[in-house]
Amino acid sequence: MNYEVNEQGFYGDFGGAFIPEMLYHNVNELKENYLQIIESNDFQDEFKDLLKEYVGRPTPLYFAKRLSEKYNTNVFLKREDLNHTGAHKINNTIGQILLAKRMNKKRIIAETGAGQHGVATATVCALMNLECIIYMGEVDIKRQAPNVARMKMLGAEVRPATSGSKTLKDATNEAIRDWIANPEDTYYLIGSVVGPHPYPDMVARFQSIISEEMKSQLIEKTGRDYPDRIIACVGGGSNAAGAFYHYSNNDKVELIAVEADGLGITTNKTAATTQVGTEGIIHGSKTLLMQNSEGQITEPHSISAGLDYPGVGPLHAHLFKSGRGTFIGATDKEALTAAYQLTRLEGIIPALESSHALAALDKIEFKPSENIVINLSGRGDKDMETYIREMSY
Ligand SMILES: *Cc1c(COP(=O)(O)O)cnc(C)c1O
Repeated sequence: MNYEVNEQGFYGDFGGAFIPEMLYHNVNELKENYLQIIESNDFQDEFKDLLKEYVGRPTPLYFAKRLSEKYNTNVFLKREDLNHTGAHKINNTIGQILLAKRMNKKRIIAETGAGQHGVATATVCALMNLECIIYMGEVDIKRQAPNVARMKMLGAEVRPATSGSKTLKDATNEAIRDWIANPEDTYYLIGSVVGPHPYPDMVARFQSIISEEMKSQLIEKTGRDYPDRIIACVGGGSNAAGAFYHYSNNDKVELIAVEADGLGITTNKTAATTQVGTEGIIHGSKTLLMQNSEGQITEPHSISAGLDYPGVGPLHAHLFKSGRGTFIGATDKEALTAAYQLTRLEGIIPALESSHALAALDKIEFKPSENIVINLSGRGDKDMETYIREMSY
């Protein structure tokens, strides 16, 4: 079994580039250039230097002593929450903006739902002095006022998407329309391992720094460069893809993906794509997605904005269908409980997304000798309103 993308952009049955003819030129230009540029020494030097000096990498692999005692096993947290801007997203944003510059693009466009990808994009555009336009659903602009303020302060223009449900998918449509209209000078920056080939592969490569660091950190701490299990939450799947990347062909490592069950998979308030989704095309890629009998995308639900996505990247659809990945779910409530527990045991307030990965600890039987890595994708500052509202003790 192979878990890398093939020449046509497929992971097994999933992936590809299902795009309108008007986008062909843009996507093809990217496909023709991305590997050569990002594998060059010059690119790698600049990328690694910014990750070190600007983002603050390597992030620690922290042995969580009290959490380990509670579950009678060895739990390590990969601290992506300590990155500049508070999550793993900036690894990808820096990578793509460096690529855009080398392709002589002057204008960066992106869509955002909760605003986290928008903030990471606006941050790096400020750093690189590039024009930045963020498309965001009108409804989301109202719901996510602090992130909208951050983007504006960073110099980005936030353009409202006013059609349809006025949320993420409508913002995506607006961004694609912009890209079609401005093929020469504009770079479309996607925030997860989704979209047409080569985006899923490219984003996975930029996030693979997570498992690259884990290897040497595990040697130092455990004497072996791999853990027994890696646990990561999955929205589109980029933090999980980065945490799994260098272990996908090592079958001694169990890869555990945690989706957001929302209120439960038997309700229609869920974002557990592999459990309730079916095969189809979303955002230019063949994958699993939540859709009705007419093939229209259904609205997902999760308490965490970053997992509130109706699809999953094609790599994860392949990991699921092939059985290489173990897919489990955590409900809104289970994620909240896990967040309060981590806060009290370790003094770390996790992002609500990452709390879904932490909730998996209650669903698995561990041996005392095992080493578990949980990818702590982000910090919880942005979720304080929810945490305080839901706190019952
Ligand atoms: C955006 C986000 C996610 C979900 O996105 P993936 O592409 O699945 O990683 C998870 N955690 C945090 C903190 C996020 O900001």
